[in-house]
Amino acid sequence: MTDATAYPQLALLIDGEWITETGAGEAVLNPADESELGHLPHVDTALLDRAAQAAARAFDRWSATPAIERKRILNRTAALLRERAEDIARWMSREEGKPVAEAVGEIGGAADIFEWYGDEAPRLYGRTVPARAPGLRHEVRRLPVGPVAGFAPWNFPALTPARKIAGALAAGCTIVMKPAEETPATAIAIARALMDAGLPPGCLNLVFGHPATISEYLIPHPAIRKISFTGSTAVGRHLGALAAQSVKRATMELGGHAPVVVCDDAALDQVVPALVAAKFRNAGQVCIAPSRFFVARKLYDGFVDRFAEAAAALHVGAGTEAGTQMGPLANDRRLAAMARLVDDAEARGLRRVTGGARVGNRGYFWQPTVLAEAEGDALVMREEPFGPIAPITPFDDLDEALSRANALPYGLAAYGFTGSRATSDRLAAGLRAGMVGVNSFAISIAELPFGGVGDSGYGSEGGTEGLDGYLETRLISQTV
Ligand code: NAD
Repeated sequence: MTDATAYPQLALLIDGEWITETGAGEAVLNPADESELGHLPHVDTALLDRAAQAAARAFDRWSATPAIERKRILNRTAALLRERAEDIARWMSREEGKPVAEAVGEIGGAADIFEWYGDEAPRLYGRTVPARAPGLRHEVRRLPVGPVAGFAPWNFPALTPARKIAGALAAGCTIVMKPAEETPATAIAIARALMDAGLPPGCLNLVFGHPATISEYLIPHPAIRKISFTGSTAVGRHLGALAAQSVKRATMELGGHAPVVVCDDAALDQVVPALVAAKFRNAGQVCIAPSRFFVARKLYDGFVDRFAEAAAALHVGAGTEAGTQMGPLANDRRLAAMARLVDDAEARGLRRVTGGARVGNRGYFWQPTVLAEAEGDALVMREEPFGPIAPITPFDDLDEALSRANALPYGLAAYGFTGSRATSDRLAAGLRAGMVGVNSFAISIAELPFGGVGDSGYGSEGGTEGLDGYLETRLISQTV
């Protein structure tokens, strides 16, 4: 009998063909115990060229496929993902570390994205502009930009590839997708759902390998017309430059360091549990996670104590174990990054209220960590922690808090909590970010634009703005 939840065989997908062996590859590790889950084949440049050529050939047919048919395929994909959510979630939990319940929620979110983009495909309207003279017609058409190269990170192995794949396919584009090498099984499961739903060969190609080699080959490739990248600002700068050199459109969803302003009239009974859940979800490896906490001095001591108590009570364990509330970090690079931030904090005299150390010596577990009196020059207040560390600092005046919240070059997400309507409006207007949550964390939803400003990138994924990224404008002025 086969175990449906066993980690699946890993493969590339090129022009409809699953390729399990290429002569090169790497081991995929379980971050909870560092055991080997599977072998991931790597592409070489010949295979990358095949993928790009396949995407270019498929584009001719897919872009001409009626939008209603594209919708049916995307909607069927959503249904298949929902049916398969439990199995995929267990694979995701093993390769990325997050608790299975979080992974199930993420697959649900990815299914919503396929459904929403599918529904939107038949609504890609153009417009007619009144002409200045009789007998003249001006028509504005929105057309798919062409084959896309997509690059996704490991922290949301379903949501991030889903945004790129669903957006591209709904618009009539084809895509060569490079998901993260750490979390391939989830992306493969999404690709299988699409193929089972009837997606023609070549419309989606999945490649894995050495990230820089793949991006440096694919971005300038003549078949590729658009780039979409999610990852760090440093890598985004490099890929953005490559895209600019070959005059290709790019969407860049990069790092953040989301400020949270807790005003003196906020209801701590509700705010603290909500912030603890948002901060430590996916062990803090979330680009929109609250990560710099500014708390009104009147509430400060109580906030720090309650927040730290709730953080310390989180049950840390393997994502596949019942009762786990926070899993390991996804890779050993994050452990080293946490140690560096905590060492810097100690050296600068921040107060370590709870946590601050690795858990055990097998698996990449880090204690939920709270650092108080975190002043602006501490590394953790300037660099995105991308892990379970919450730095908290008091403020005296809302204008001061807003200016400290807006002081970094990042601008992905920002949050504010208050009991007053007037302050709520001040927070909404005063926080500089692509996504602002006021008494709300509901910012990552299929129908809403997801994206940042400043060093957090440009362009949006999700919502109708997400589709805009895959469309180009053609004006047709015609004498009729
Ligand atoms: P990283 O920047 O090296 O990698 C992030 C992702 O980009 C990975 O999936 C990686 O495979 C890919 N990548 C790296 N170099 C690439 C290249 N030259 N071409 C194409 N893809 C490339 O960082 P990391 O160590 O994996 O993660 C650490 C930092 O990345 C975090 O501190 C965080 O700032 C950022 N990050 C952001 C997001 C996000 O959602 N915006 C997600 C994951 C990581």
